[in-house]
Amino acid sequence: MNLSKHMLIVVGARPQFIKAAALHRALKDAGGWRSTWLHSGQHHDEALSGQFFHELGLPQPDVRLAPNATSRELRLGDMMGGIRSAIDAHRPAWVVVFGDTDSTLAGAWAATARQVPLIHIEAGLRSQDWRMPEEVNRVLTDRMSSVLVCPTYAAVDHLRREAIVDNSVDGEGPSVLKPWVLKTGDIMHDNAVHFKAQFDIVKARSGRVLMTMHRPGNVDDPDLLWSWVEAIGAWLKSQDLRAVWPIHPRTKKCLQSSSQPWWDRLESLGMDAAPPMGYVELLKAVHEAPLVLTDSGGVQKEAYSLGRRCIVLRDCTEWTEQVEEGQSVLCPAPRSLKDSADRLLGHGPFTPGSLYGNGHAATELMVKLNLMLKGLDG
Ligand code: UDP
Repeated sequence: MNLSKHMLIVVGARPQFIKAAALHRALKDAGGWRSTWLHSGQHHDEALSGQFFHELGLPQPDVRLAPNATSRELRLGDMMGGIRSAIDAHRPAWVVVFGDTDSTLAGAWAATARQVPLIHIEAGLRSQDWRMPEEVNRVLTDRMSSVLVCPTYAAVDHLRREAIVDNSVDGEGPSVLKPWVLKTGDIMHDNAVHFKAQFDIVKARSGRVLMTMHRPGNVDDPDLLWSWVEAIGAWLKSQDLRAVWPIHPRTKKCLQSSSQPWWDRLESLGMDAAPPMGYVELLKAVHEAPLVLTDSGGVQKEAYSLGRRCIVLRDCTEWTEQVEEGQSVLCPAPRSLKDSADRLLGHGPFTPGSLYGNGHAATELMVKLNLMLKGLDG
């Protein structure tokens, strides 16, 4: 097995650019590592992709794919083929993927096809909701991984229940059958801690509620989406609050399909609609918010990292510990919104614990990898 220090890093969707930024910083100090960056083209416009490269200081990708976007299946196939060709051309010793998107699965499949060890960052998460494409992507990617990097002990436990256990003490290189399971902190928490320094401390309840929605289960059906919007609007009015809502393109498409002048309606419901925000602007909006309402996994975590409480607009979450700690509450349907939001708002800000580590998860990963590779050499 060729275990040189050369990674092919696969990114392609908004949360992956953010996760990759923490790894990029850690790689600079990790000693002797070379990285080739591949952009799968899953998100390709300025709002969901371009702005993050500038803002987070990511290198321009060495390989940029342009997959067929007419269907999910065609896009996935094109991404798989493109990543496989990049592996053949660049001959990395490792392929790195993040999270649970189709780019993650495509990278995992290509690494498996070319028998290159796969490092999965954010391994072991489970929502137990097999209807979600992300859950399928997570489970399959973990099964194809040689190094599984878990953000929490719960993630390590999920893997153990699926008979994926750490074999790093064996003194062999990692493989799918004998994987290395590493518990670090959470790489997105690293970024929240790192970039928090860029904005001023603002007292809770001085700003607007932050809301984000982009999951197909919430935003593809106009009737359901408007039920959420009306329920959130009624709650804002009852609390004399306003919300800022950076609207994801998928959500905007659905809002635009309605016959009513949607922008005016949002305004009258107390919502300031905005284009998708840059990362630091989003963090600042989380930090200023008296409460966060979201169906995004990343935003849910950022609320935790920045000490804000969060209503999760879903019936399940991968980040269950936040619910157990009382920072987040699941809200499966618009009719439960008011009760949950009133209760959580009443609790005030949240003091985060050490769930996601000390803000140096990516560094910890590189230190562990270096030590283990050194062990193999010896
Ligand atoms: N995000 C952002 N601008 C926005 C909304 C979200 O920068 O207007 C960031 C957010 O900080 C988080 C990430 O995007 O880190 C989450 O991505 P998304 O909600 O698309 O996916 P998920 O986390 O649900 O997979």
